[in-house]
Amino acid sequence: MSNEAGMSTEANLSDVSDVLAIDSLLSAEERTVRERVRDFTNQRIRPGIAGWYEDAVFPLELAPELGELGVLGMHLEGYGCPGRSAVEYGLAAMELEAGDSGVRTFVSVQGSLAMTAIHKWGSEDQKQEWLPRMAAGELIGAFALTEPTAGSDPASMKTFARRDGSGDDAGWILDGAKRWIGLASVAGVLVVWAMTDDGVRGFLVPAGTAGVTATPIGQKLSMRASIQCDITFDAVRLGPEALLPAARGLRGPFSCLNEARYGIAWGAMGAARDSYEAALAYSQERLQFGKPLAGYQLTQEKLVNMVLEIQKGTLLALHLGRLKDAGRLRPEQISLGKLNNVREALAIAREARTILGGNGITLDHSPLRHAANLESVRTYEGTDEVHTLILGQHITGLPAFR
Ligand SMILES: Cc1cc2nc3c(=O)[nH]c(=O)nc-3n(C[C@H](O)[C@H](O)[C@H](O)COP(=O)(O)OP(=O)(O)OC[C@H]3O[C@@H](n4cnc5c(N)ncnc54)[C@H](O)[C@@H]3O)c2cc1C
Repeated sequence: MSNEAGMSTEANLSDVSDVLAIDSLLSAEERTVRERVRDFTNQRIRPGIAGWYEDAVFPLELAPELGELGVLGMHLEGYGCPGRSAVEYGLAAMELEAGDSGVRTFVSVQGSLAMTAIHKWGSEDQKQEWLPRMAAGELIGAFALTEPTAGSDPASMKTFARRDGSGDDAGWILDGAKRWIGLASVAGVLVVWAMTDDGVRGFLVPAGTAGVTATPIGQKLSMRASIQCDITFDAVRLGPEALLPAARGLRGPFSCLNEARYGIAWGAMGAARDSYEAALAYSQERLQFGKPLAGYQLTQEKLVNMVLEIQKGTLLALHLGRLKDAGRLRPEQISLGKLNNVREALAIAREARTILGGNGITLDHSPLRHAANLESVRTYEGTDEVHTLILGQHITGLPAFR
C-alpha cells in the first residue's frame, strides 16, 4: 500500500470519537493507511451493506479490490504480500469492521488464517503457488478447523488423514466433516486441519478435489453478508505435496488463530465506533419532548459511556499492536484484548440501538446489524469463555478447561 503524499491527516481527526487524541500516537504513515481503508469503507462497503445483509450475500467482487487496497495478508512479507506493520493491519481491520464485520471477517480468513498458515508452515513451492494470487484477491482461501462436534476443543477433532501407500511419495486419504468454515464454497484452496497417526497436521486441498463438498449455512441471524459452510470430506485423495510440512500439532492452527484474534481486538472497536457515531448523529437530530435526544442527561450518559469504552479499547488495541510490532505480544495478552474489546463493542452496539428507538431495528441504521454480527465475533476465534479460561489459567496457574 503506497503512502499517499500530501494526504491531510488533521482533517480526519474526529473530536467526538477521539476525545483523547489517540490519533496523535500514530505515525503519519499509519494514519495514511487508515485513511485509505476508511475511504474504501465509505465508498465500497457502506453504500451496499444493507442490501447485502438483507439478501445474505457476500460481495465477491470486493475480493480483488481488497487485494488492490493491500489488506490481504497485510502483515506478511514477500510472495506479493504487502508487508505492513501489525498496527497498520489493526487499523485496517478497525476501518473495515466499521463498515461490516463480514468484510473484516473475509480479510481475517483470507490473510490471518489461510495465508498465514501457508506463509508460516508451507513449503517454498506451496508459498509460490498460492500466496501471490491470494494477496491479489484473485484466489480465495479457507481455514477449516472447527467440526460439528469439535469447536472450543479442537483436539477432539474427528477428521482423519491416513497414509495412502508407503514411502516418500505416499499421499493421503482424508475423511471427515468441518462446520462454520468461512468462504469454503468459493475458495480456490482449503487449509484443512486433520488428525493423523502423527498428531494434527495441515493440508492444502485445492477447489474441485473429488470427494469435497462445501455447503453454505443458511438462515443466519448474524454475519449475513458473509459465507460460512459445512464441508464433508469423503475419501479425498491428496498427493504428498498437499501436506503443510512445518505444521505439527495444534500449534499449527493456533498460531494462525492468534493472528486473527489480534485483528479482532481492533476490528470490534470499528463496529463500536460506527454504532456510537450513528447514535450520536441521530440523537442530535431527533426531537422528543421539544428538544434533541442528545440534550437529555440520560442520553448523554449512554453516549459518554460508549466513548469511554471505545477510547479504552482502542488504546488497548494499539498497545497490543506496538507489542506485536516489537515481537513481544503474548497469547494471553491477545486473549485480554479480544475478550474485552468484543464484549464492550457488543454492549455499545446494543446501547446505541436504544437511542435509535424503533428506527434502530431496521437496516437503515448500523448498530443492530453490528450487534448481531458481534454475537458471531464473540463466538469465533475463541469464545468469551475460552479466553476467560486462558486468562484464568495465566493468573492462577490452574487450568480449568476440563
Ligand atoms: C460466523 C462464524 C464464522 C466462523 N468461521 C470459522 C472458520 O473460518 N474456520 C473455522 O475453523 N471455524 C470457524 N468458526 C467456528 C468457531 O470458531 C466456533 O463456533 C467456536 O470455536 C466455538 O465452537 P462451537 O460453536 O462448536 O461451540 P462450543 O465449543 O460447543 O461451545 C458452546 C458454548 O460452550 C462454552 N464452552 C465450551 N467449553 C467450555 C468450558 N470448558 N467451560 C465453559 N464453557 C465452555 C463455549 O464458550 C460456548 O459458550 C466460525 C463460527 C462462526 C459463528
